[in-house]
Amino acid sequence: MSVLGAVASDPMTASANESHPTRPRRLADVDTWFFETDVAIVGFGGAGACAAIEAADGGCQVAIFEVASASGGSTALSSAEVYMGGNGGTRVQQACGYEDSTEDMFNYIMAAQGDLADEAKIRLYCEESRNHFDWLVSMGAKYKNSEHKDRAIMALTDDCLLYTGNEKSWPFRDIAKPCPRGHNLEVEGDNGGPMLMGFLTEQVEKRGVRVEYNTRALTLIQDDEGIVHGLVVRMDNAERNVRTRKGVLLAAGGFVMNEEMLAKYAPRLAQGNIPVGNPGDTGAGILMGQGAGGALLHMGEGFISVPYYPPSSLTFGIFVNAQGQRFINEDVYHSRLMDHALRQVGKGIYLIVSHDDYDHPKFLNAEIAGTGETIEEMAEEVGLPADNLRHTVDYYNAHAARGDDPLFHKSAEWLKPIRAPYAALDCTPGSGVINPYFTLGGLDTLPTGEVLTMEKEVIQGLYAAGRTACGVPRRAEGYASGLSVGDATFFGRVAGKQMALAVSRD
Ligand SMILES: Cc1cc2nc3c(=O)[nH]c(=O)nc-3n(C[C@H](O)[C@H](O)[C@H](O)COP(=O)(O)OP(=O)(O)OC[C@H]3O[C@@H](n4cnc5c(N)ncnc54)[C@H](O)[C@@H]3O)c2cc1C
Repeated sequence: MSVLGAVASDPMTASANESHPTRPRRLADVDTWFFETDVAIVGFGGAGACAAIEAADGGCQVAIFEVASASGGSTALSSAEVYMGGNGGTRVQQACGYEDSTEDMFNYIMAAQGDLADEAKIRLYCEESRNHFDWLVSMGAKYKNSEHKDRAIMALTDDCLLYTGNEKSWPFRDIAKPCPRGHNLEVEGDNGGPMLMGFLTEQVEKRGVRVEYNTRALTLIQDDEGIVHGLVVRMDNAERNVRTRKGVLLAAGGFVMNEEMLAKYAPRLAQGNIPVGNPGDTGAGILMGQGAGGALLHMGEGFISVPYYPPSSLTFGIFVNAQGQRFINEDVYHSRLMDHALRQVGKGIYLIVSHDDYDHPKFLNAEIAGTGETIEEMAEEVGLPADNLRHTVDYYNAHAARGDDPLFHKSAEWLKPIRAPYAALDCTPGSGVINPYFTLGGLDTLPTGEVLTMEKEVIQGLYAAGRTACGVPRRAEGYASGLSVGDATFFGRVAGKQMALAVSRD
């Protein structure tokens, strides 16, 4: 087939059977190729950028197609916390006095992902994590040898290391030795994402990668045996066929901006009210992979949060459900708490706190549902069963005074009796409280990024990484900040290297 600068079809005259993500174009129907490349990457966010760098370093000709007019995606919007450790510790962990072991990191992530864990991916991620830190540094990442010790969602200082998951809380502290693994770039404020994508973009450009902005990938090109030979993109208002000799990587993010897909796959997640992502998170990459025969995994899962800290003093409080009963140790990571909150019976989730520990929550936006000099007074104002709430608080206080929490094993560091006057913050989903969320389900892939069918067969020529794939982070219950950018950048790199090794279809 010849490589011509010709346009495959004119969108102005396109019919109802025009390109759709889940309808791959048949190779036999391709008359002309706009251009050829070894590797084509859909999406210039974290996964796409890292894949492009590794594929180019592996000797490939690489092209990136990005629907937006600049690189970045959700990665550039993020805090760019990256979850890294093991192998004796990253340079920062060691400087801060932590000797992190690969087994502890592996055991922690395995336990946090529970039944959904992908052991092979987690093993590779942990074993290579310190190398990934060094690689990011070699690309331009600056990490200060300092620790942010507050209980925080992200470090707003330029300090690097912080606990970003459930490592110190029950049951995980008994499964693996706790260690902070969230790495924050050396930048003041929540500005890590632009910085990360800034230096990754420079690295991509330096390698002469062809980047086509304002170009939407529409669908894949597949032969009758299922092999992917390229993709169809809309560029300059026309559909164009691009041939790939080694592979197409789908790195187009998740589907948090696609209401139809959310309703279909993740209605529980959609109880959140702040979709966390960029406008390109429409699930296009997932749909393209699905159209080519790729299997989907854990599409109902995602990150969903109730950001009740900072201030950390609210962790001295207790969360109760509509029955006035506790349901979790409150020292957990905020998305684990939210995941458990969503499982409660009845409508009503409240954070009960002593006046002395109350400080205005920075991100929560929760109304004070009730206050009182007595539990009964507050319960009546909130509409909670007073007897139950009285029993919950008395039981909690009696044990907290001894540094114990026999029900949920909250760490002694966060235990103290709740005293009058009391306040109840309304954290009921839908009440106006902030519940950010994004998706974690996606295409089933090998750790190499190769996309798998329902029969677990590799689709030749097709790869996925980042939130288009179902990666290491798989559920809110076990999420830790830094796992998504960590997974996207790390497995983007792995896929880039794998594509470079693929046999070229000349
Ligand atoms: C505000 C915010 C804070 C966050 N903080 C953190 C954090 O600190 N740590 C962490 O681990 N995670 C964080 N996350 C989540 C994390 O940023 C993302 O899950 C992750 O960066 C996704 O990376 P990606 O490469 O898969 O996708 P992206 O970075 O979103 O890149 C995908 C790209 O694909 C493009 N695209 C989509 N469809 C097409 C198409 N059809 N054709 C061409 N291009 C297309 C998009 O425009 C986009 O540029 C945060 C997210 C947000 C929004």
